[in-house]
Amino acid sequence: MIKFDDVTKKYPDGTVAVDTLSLVAPSGQITVFVGPSGCGKTTSLRMINRMIEPSSGTIWMDDQDTGKVAPATLRRGIGYVIQHAGLFPHRTILDNIITVPSLLGQDKKKARTRAMELMERVGLEARFAGRYPAQLSGGQQQRVGVARALAADPPVMLMDEPFSAVDPVVREQLQQEFLRLQSELGKTIVFVTHDIDEAIKLGDQVAVLNVGGILAQLASPAELLSRPANAFVAGFVGRDRGYRALGFETDTVPLRTEPTVALGGTVADAVRVAEDGWVLVVDTGNSPQGWLNVNHGSYDGTTLIAPALLNLGGTLATEGGTLRNTLDAALSSPSGRGVVVDDASKLLGTVTTADVVARIEAKAAAARAVEPAVRG
Ligand code: ADP
Ligand code: MG
Repeated sequence: MIKFDDVTKKYPDGTVAVDTLSLVAPSGQITVFVGPSGCGKTTSLRMINRMIEPSSGTIWMDDQDTGKVAPATLRRGIGYVIQHAGLFPHRTILDNIITVPSLLGQDKKKARTRAMELMERVGLEARFAGRYPAQLSGGQQQRVGVARALAADPPVMLMDEPFSAVDPVVREQLQQEFLRLQSELGKTIVFVTHDIDEAIKLGDQVAVLNVGGILAQLASPAELLSRPANAFVAGFVGRDRGYRALGFETDTVPLRTEPTVALGGTVADAVRVAEDGWVLVVDTGNSPQGWLNVNHGSYDGTTLIAPALLNLGGTLATEGGTLRNTLDAALSSPSGRGVVVDDASKLLGTVTTADVVARIEAKAAAARAVEPAVRG
């Protein structure tokens, strides 16, 4: 656990970067600091490992006052990842990763073995070990940065906009892999970003900071979307809030039974089961493959149903998944019926947009019924 207790940072020029910040970053969880540029995110993060000293207040790490721990000792238990990875340009990838273990006097051979394991863990091929940072893409360099921070196996990780400098596709991959890695490692992580979408995706809890280093709200992502504490948070969280909140509502929408036809059958088979021109095609294992339009001009009854004839436009929803996914499956389906599958990708049934919206409306009505008349 990391605890900020009334922490203020005033720089010598009078700038108050962080103003009486109090919050707890629980052990084993990801706490995200998010806010506009200059709101004190980096300053807050760097006060944890004493790269910056607070002007007043205390930062606790478990039951230790970090102000009373020698910075070098403190940092041994804290991994630190920054934008552009901050790698040593004249050291190989392997040497970059084993920097800290080497400084700590760890056995070289053991450190190398662990570095190679870490490279695999963060999705880097072993052949990169002997390369130099400039020979890697931005995304690969960030992976090295994460591997290096993990090398000494610190219980705490501080991450300052680690994925901000890479393109959106790579960022998405890095985020996914970061979440997978964290589900295995369970580190105590403080993660800084200016991107509210990233905050909502990665945070177990999110601290929204306003300029002047003022904590505007500390909440779970779902709560942030559904109950922004004030106009600043509401504005910062931004558009599509109601829609994005559906991404946190897992629910089961009653399913319709969907007639199907198998790949390899004929269009005549499909016409027999078609209700409105669209037929769902499955494989022999009952996994949905796509939709067939039986009224397509160039097919006749003897045309065999091959993958090339299928419309793959619809996204799949998983049973018990989020309402956002289920709604998207319905909206994106060429037939207007969203396909719902189980964990093994077997067909369970379909839902229409109206089915999902009815479920959303019922849940919203139930929530309004328990909302206190005056918010305190
Ligand atoms: P963020 O990471 O949220 O963009 P920072 O923590 O870097 O914000 O900065 C917070 C505020 O403190 C900004 O107004 C910034 O200009 C100011 N600041 C940061 N470092 C210093 C410094 N060394 N001296 C004076 N002001 C600083
Ligand atoms: Mg910053």
